[in-house]
This record gives sequence, C-alpha cells and structure tokens, in this order.
Amino acid sequence: MLRLQVNDLTYSYGDREAADHVSLQVGRGEFVGLIGPNGSGKSTVLKNIYRGLTPDSGTITLDGEDLLAMPYRKSARKLAVVGQENEVPFDFTVEEMVAMGRSPHKRLFDIDTPRDRQIVHHALEHLGMEHLAKRSYLRLSGGEKQRVLIARAIAQESDFLILDEPTNHLDVSYQMQIFDFIKRLKVTVLSAIHDLNMAALYCDRLYVLQRGRVVMEGTPEQVLTPQRIYEVYGVHSAVERHPATGKLSITFLPAEISA
Ligand code: ADP
Ligand code: MG
Repeated sequence: MLRLQVNDLTYSYGDREAADHVSLQVGRGEFVGLIGPNGSGKSTVLKNIYRGLTPDSGTITLDGEDLLAMPYRKSARKLAVVGQENEVPFDFTVEEMVAMGRSPHKRLFDIDTPRDRQIVHHALEHLGMEHLAKRSYLRLSGGEKQRVLIARAIAQESDFLILDEPTNHLDVSYQMQIFDFIKRLKVTVLSAIHDLNMAALYCDRLYVLQRGRVVMEGTPEQVLTPQRIYEVYGVHSAVERHPATGKLSITFLPAEISA
C-alpha cells in the first residue's frame, strides 16, 4: 500500500527553484533513499514533506489524505522527523529532548505519565544512551546529539520516519548501528543519504535528485551503475556486488586511475 505520494512538488527560495516538479512514492514498509549531490534539493524536498516549508505547487498525500490540509498534531503523530539543522535555543537535558517526542500524543501542559517515561527510557536504552539521560544536550558531541534526535523520533512512536542525512556527524560504527536499528524497527522510511554505499546497503529503492529534479528512480542495482554515478556526480567508480553483504559496493576511482 502507498503511504506517501508526492506529485509535481515545486518550491523556490525567492527566485531560486530548489525543487522542480518532484514526484515520488513511498510504500508501506519501504526504505527509500533520496540521493544526489550537495545542493540538489534533498533537504528542500524533505522539508516540504515534513511541513517545514510549504510547496509553491504540487500535492502530497499521506495514507490517502491531503497532508497539506492535515492538522499539524495529526501529521506529527504519523511522521517522525530527524532533520539536518538541530540546534535548540535552550539547554535541555537529553531526557527532556527525547520526552519532546511524546508531545504530539499529549495536550499542552499534560504531565508525563509513567508510560511516557517508560517510552523515553526505552528509546534511550535502544540507542545506548541511558547513562547520558541527565546530561545537557547542547554539550554533547555531534554524534551524540544525532543519537538523541533519533531517540526522540522513536519516542514519538510513529511508523514513518523522515531522516535528513541522519548519520552525517557519526563515525562508521554509529552509522551502521543507527541504520541497522532503524531497519529493525520495520517502519516506513524516507531518508536523504549522502553516502552511496550506505544507500546501497540499506535502501530498497532510490530517487536521485539533480538540480531540483528527480533524474532517476529505481533499486540500488538499477540506479548505482558507474555510468549513472558519473552522470550525476562526475566521478568514475567501480561497482561490485560484495560477497559478504550481497549488496552493491562502490569504490570511487581517483582521476589518474580512471583516465
Ligand atoms: P541538499 O539537501 O541536496 O544539499 P538543499 O535542499 O539544501 O540541497 O538545497 C537546494 C538548493 O536550494 C541549493 O541551491 C541551496 O543553496 C538552496 N537553498 C537551500 N536553503 C535555502 C535557503 N534557506 N535560502 C535560499 N536558498 C536555499
Ligand atoms: Mg541537505
């Protein structure tokens, strides 16, 4: 079943068109990646979907309903978001940050119930962060902050995650840990992913953006060919199926080798 359907989404910052008639679909339980060079419009498309920006034109439906007309609290119960810019104006503890994930389920000034506290505790535990619960969020490292935001998205208990380069600040062990963890949740995922090897390992399907347009769509096998990688990124590569993972593995070739 189709969960998210974006049709002809167009968005400009002033006169800079950043999303140009973008259409994409995400089915139930799919893990869909949005790839493309820096500035190709990945974050813009995601922000229009999670309602950080309002499309100039186009339609977005979530579970068959017009997302742009949906009350914010309802969309927040359905979609959990880990965005790219995540600074907060006040100094919250880790626990308080994660507890914010509960707010779409509550009314203003509702106190946390034992169940809320249990959910927050479990989310922290899953990401190996219980020991940091009382620490100041602002004083964590980039990677720790990112894990807190993922815990917050999990505490939100939605079954659709939107992620914008979620592992950007993380070293490889946390990158793998987080993608493995998200994969095990068996939720629906739409994620901008910077690293093509991570995209090949975890995604069922990919959309490739270039200058605000979707230029390719398909399985990693269809999309991640040396020729297409060259067309989009201008870099030569060797693509092989790795015997241990059964997934594609991409090696980028320096100019002197590929010449
Ligand atoms: P990506 O996430 O793929 O790196 P973005 O969606 O952030 O790409 O950016 C797409 C284009 O829109 C880029 O040319 C970028 O410079 C521009 N852009 C992004 N945010 C803004 C903004 N707040 N104001 C003006 N231009 C922006
Ligand atoms: Mg971005």
